[in-house]
Amino acid sequence: MAEVIDLKGRKSKERRIAEGRDRRRAQAVASALSCGLCPRRCAHCGQAVEFVAAPPAEMPYPFCEVCQEEYQAFRRLEKGGEPEAFWHTPQWAGTWRNWLAYMQANQEFRGSPAFLKLMEEHLD
Ligand SMILES: [Zn+2]
Repeated sequence: MAEVIDLKGRKSKERRIAEGRDRRRAQAVASALSCGLCPRRCAHCGQAVEFVAAPPAEMPYPFCEVCQEEYQAFRRLEKGGEPEAFWHTPQWAGTWRNWLAYMQANQEFRGSPAFLKLMEEHLD
């Protein structure tokens, strides 16, 4: 009988450990996906920004002034324009292209049933 109680205790402890691990993983997923969503920070560089006006409609995310200029330069380059600075290389354009794809993937995952279930089940 004592062994049965011990087994129940062990399973309960293992379940609590697993639940704690799942909660920490869910929190890490939520934290990673909230990056770039802070309303007082530039979505691209993370610099604190005091937004005094709504960003232009063509901006996909709230950017600081510098990142907004860089994003616009990237868009012009993508449309066949000339590089506007020496660092506007194909690799620089690749960082923008991949960052935008990353942000889009995050947005799609945040809207998915799996993400909503994860948040409901593992976050308090
Ligand atoms: Zn910025």
